[in-house]
Amino acid sequence: MKKRVLITGGAGFLGSHLCEKLLNRGNEVICLDNYFTGSKENILHLLENPHFELIRHDVTMPFFIEVDEIYNLACPASPIHYQYNPIKTIKTSVMGAINMLGLAKRIKAKILQASTSEVYGDPEIHPQPEDYWGNVNPLGPRACYDEGKRCAETLFMNYHQQNDVQIKIMRIFNTYGPRMDMNDGRVVSNFIVQALKGEDITIYGEGKQTRSFCYVDDNIKGMIKLMESGDEITGPVNIGNPHEFTIRELAEKVIELTGSSSSLVERPLPQDDPMQRQPVIKRAVNELDWQPEVGLEEGLQKTIGYFRKLLNSESLERAT
Ligand code: NAD
Ligand code: UDP
Repeated sequence: MKKRVLITGGAGFLGSHLCEKLLNRGNEVICLDNYFTGSKENILHLLENPHFELIRHDVTMPFFIEVDEIYNLACPASPIHYQYNPIKTIKTSVMGAINMLGLAKRIKAKILQASTSEVYGDPEIHPQPEDYWGNVNPLGPRACYDEGKRCAETLFMNYHQQNDVQIKIMRIFNTYGPRMDMNDGRVVSNFIVQALKGEDITIYGEGKQTRSFCYVDDNIKGMIKLMESGDEITGPVNIGNPHEFTIRELAEKVIELTGSSSSLVERPLPQDDPMQRQPVIKRAVNELDWQPEVGLEEGLQKTIGYFRKLLNSESLERAT
């Protein structure tokens, strides 16, 4: 059945893929974004589609519309960007959640929250199941993001329990792929762009910290499956790829796949940088029949192809 869907943060990395996928499935999509970290380029190819609508709006302000479903993705995701204006980041998560939940309550829409593995902080339990409460420094530089997202989860559960709002909480683990912003500062885009430009690859600390990287297509499939799951499923549900790599292993893989002659250099490890991160995905497998299908090498190849094309077109533009 054709649905009207609101996607906040729809001009960002994940949001733009979600807009595209939901349009392809025959839905009407309204993309809301303030362009803080997203861009019109990400959704340029959708603008001609009569079922697509783009609205510049900030989720910290109330918004009125009639839709069947809301995907709440608005929030900068890269540490550099979310730490740029921490108060704005926490307002985006908390006031954004309040505004979107209020809207969902009024119009009886189903609403999904893009939460994060960061709610586990620097985890003392490894790998991380959904019932782990996390280890977050509430005063550290990452707190505006981690605590904002934790508070948003609480708000979602409270609106569900108190007002019967149909909610879905998705805990997203590091996801990468085409349309990540080149200057976003996240590790996969940084390493690929550095390798393609022949610049030093910046490993923070000794690169012994781990992450588990999920390709964007797998993430979006999981997100839609969660939204379309039965009312009894509220989440939280971890969506990520359980294959864990050290940051140094990732750097070496990127060098190998790009054929780059870049050197690996160590830079100071940011404060409170989590040492390890790996999802337990049993819940997604059992309740959503979801599991990731794209391995790191295949996903990196696709992402490298995207950045290679982007860098080539930029250098062509400079030459003309
Ligand atoms: P992104 O930065 O590319 O996208 C975020 C989008 O939200 C951008 O288009 C930005 O302009 C918009 N935005 C930010 N503040 C806003 C505001 N106040 N009002 C309206 N729009 C606003 O990041 P992404 O990787 O696409 O992440 C999307 C969501 O998924 C975020 O909520 C993020 O926390 C969550 N998430 C992502 C990852 C990941 O690895 N990509 C991991 C965990 C959680
Ligand atoms: N990182 C790195 N070099 C970079 C960017 C990031 O070594 O150029 C490290 C960072 O310190 C962290 C990991 O890569 O340990 C993942 O960082 P990212 O910002 O992508 O995501 P998050 O820390 O939120 O998982």
